Amino acid sequence: MKCPFCSYGDSRVVDSRAIDGSTSIRRRRECPECGRRFTTYEKYEETPLLVTKKDGRRELFDSQKLLSGLIKAFEKRPMSYEKIQEIGSDIERELRSQGEAEISSELIGETVMRHLEKVDQIAYVRFASVYRQFADVNNFMQEIQKMIKRGQDK
Ligand SMILES: [Zn+2]
Repeated sequence: MKCPFCSYGDSRVVDSRAIDGSTSIRRRRECPECGRRFTTYEKYEETPLLVTKKDGRRELFDSQKLLSGLIKAFEKRPMSYEKIQEIGSDIERELRSQGEAEISSELIGETVMRHLEKVDQIAYVRFASVYRQFADVNNFMQEIQKMIKRGQDK
């Protein structure tokens, strides 16, 4: 990246952060020649990600849908909207980083659960109960016990 001040042909990235969910990256750069700093925004081309559902139907991955699922799971939990968005972006980034054009809805569910389990167990159980559609209460209790056990093993 060319320096806008002295046109030196190279620059060093001093800081990168994702903005707007996960599709844009803001970089602070420093010119090794004149030492001045400038900011660039990079938006990576979003390749469409297809989601295969259990019944074989396909639909486009929808980050808004993912976010609303997370918001539901975190209802009345001490978690800021920004933080929830951040979790959503992390999940999306992880899904896209597989490099597959098509992923299963199951993979999304499992990935969400893995992330939620780390940050909020109530949100995890809520999401899991909707996602797994536990056939009966015993199934649900087993899942909670597994979770508690994993918590103790840590
Ligand atoms: Zn420069």
